[in-house]
Amino acid sequence: MSERLKEGLSRRKFIKGAAAGAGIIAAAGSAIIGKGPDNAHAGNQPDKYSFEIPPAAIPSSDIKQTVTADVVVLGLGMAGIPATLSAVEAGVKVAALEKQDKINVTGVMDLGMMGTKWQKDQGMTWTPEIINDAIRELMKWGSNRIDQRLLRIWVNHGSEYWDWLTAMTDPAGIKWQPNNWPPPEPWDNSRENYRQYPTAAHISMSNFARVLNIMADKARGLGASLHFGATAKQLVKTGNRVTGVIALDKDGNYTRFDAKKGVILCTGDYGYNTEMLEKYVPHAAFRKHSMKSTSMGEGHQMAMWIGAQMEPTPHAPMTHAMGFGLLGNTAFLHVNRFGERFQNEDVSGQAWNDQVEEQPGKFSWQVIDSNWKTRLPYMSIGHGSIFSVDDGSSFMLNNAIKADTIEELAVKMSVPVDTFKATVKRYNKMVNAGIDTDFAKPSHRLFPVDAPPFYAGKAETAGMLVVMGGLLCNADLQAYDADFNVIRGLYLAGNTVGRRFAVSYPTTCPGISNGLAFTHGRYAGLKAAADV
Ligand SMILES: Cc1cc2nc3c(=O)[nH]c(=O)nc-3n(C[C@H](O)[C@H](O)[C@H](O)COP(=O)(O)OP(=O)(O)OC[C@H]3O[C@@H](n4cnc5c(N)ncnc54)[C@H](O)[C@@H]3O)c2cc1C
Repeated sequence: MSERLKEGLSRRKFIKGAAAGAGIIAAAGSAIIGKGPDNAHAGNQPDKYSFEIPPAAIPSSDIKQTVTADVVVLGLGMAGIPATLSAVEAGVKVAALEKQDKINVTGVMDLGMMGTKWQKDQGMTWTPEIINDAIRELMKWGSNRIDQRLLRIWVNHGSEYWDWLTAMTDPAGIKWQPNNWPPPEPWDNSRENYRQYPTAAHISMSNFARVLNIMADKARGLGASLHFGATAKQLVKTGNRVTGVIALDKDGNYTRFDAKKGVILCTGDYGYNTEMLEKYVPHAAFRKHSMKSTSMGEGHQMAMWIGAQMEPTPHAPMTHAMGFGLLGNTAFLHVNRFGERFQNEDVSGQAWNDQVEEQPGKFSWQVIDSNWKTRLPYMSIGHGSIFSVDDGSSFMLNNAIKADTIEELAVKMSVPVDTFKATVKRYNKMVNAGIDTDFAKPSHRLFPVDAPPFYAGKAETAGMLVVMGGLLCNADLQAYDADFNVIRGLYLAGNTVGRRFAVSYPTTCPGISNGLAFTHGRYAGLKAAADV
């Protein structure tokens, strides 16, 4: 058992089987009910985390009021807001529930789309062949476990949905910026080790909040009722159809929201839920929590309690961008605490960090020499890579350890001097030979480390941003039960959708998580309104 798994398991608080028998339901994220290691041979019930045990049904006598709608949207985030607006624009009655007091943005606003008019205006070429290339890359990132139909919703509708969005945001003066574009002249995607597609349109966090509020205000203006401080607690199922949801307000009162056509689950990810991390992403659970305390996986849980099924494990954590070294994850020499090289440095953001995590102490050093500025234009435009001197300079000033000799640098880095000297010598030898026979870094990214002064920057583990694991569904985003039958009336969007990424979050298409959430949100809103 790995150290990180042991660390995770040691945090479990086991409750004896008797507790489960007595019907005790612990709050999600706090306890495990069932057979722990201390009684593993004693009984007949397998271990279960508390979130896996359906709670007792909320009695109808506790329900203070009922709201009737055609479509009920749970969660007003990146998926829920377009879902709400799309459904109400389709002419049906919509109620949307959000457990926070107002709309809060979850992440950075890189909206990843493919082939929009705006992208073409930036000089990007998007052909069906290039799109297929990108899809094939995404499938590789996900070990071919992705349901490509879910990506195709994004590809086939993204451009049209982008026009729908910008028809609202352009009049508000919101200006989108391309990310990592234009590329430096030597960049050629066809010879990239990790291909990169410039999908992301970027805006500031404050403009991101404006974008969400513009859509929400429009939905409200069209008659959608938005309920803040309302936490969805249990789905209501009648036969094989989800017919509503019971929510708890801040005063402790329950309201039942009846949905004649469908409930759309847009409650985000489960990255703040310790138990769910341990069960579904044990390899990343050592990070403990994502950045959003609202990400408790309540939507996933409610759906599983009424028969939906989670996609197979391990799920894909989004764990990048927090542990970069001196110059991002640009393909410069990279060594571990023993002063040894350990990877082909020319890999994309999250993959670079994944290798750092496998190193002793979970950190590494990026090493450059004084020629770094002339090397940057030859680097990748990939996620987290730096290929412009301006960006690079700011990193340099903040993080550099500087020395005039390799020996002195090793001492300052606290790595073994002889090993590090040997590493640099061997690396330079391979650079001169034009081939990396140790870690297969492409020859066009091999640059010597021989011009003093030398610099080193420490890279530590990436943070947990969100977790991409979700529920199984069909190509119309309708949840499946354990036998792959559609659960009528239950739609998914955003991070409740399973098999979008499978095992790894792909940085090959930046902003894809927001892009899918937005596109799936609108798609599910339209489908639920039509009740396919
Ligand atoms: C720091 C950070 C940076 C990121 N950067 C990027 C990026 O650059 N590009 C990218 O594509 N993605 C990025 N992401 C990920 C992206 O933000 C998410 O994948 C995206 O927000 C998912 O949308 P969603 O609608 O599924 O969830 P969210 O946007 O999180 O919305 C879910 C909503 O549901 C509400 N909710 C939860 N449970 C309930 C309940 N029981 N009842 C009622 N309401 C509930 C929540 O309060 C929340 O408002 C980043 C995330 C983080 C944390």
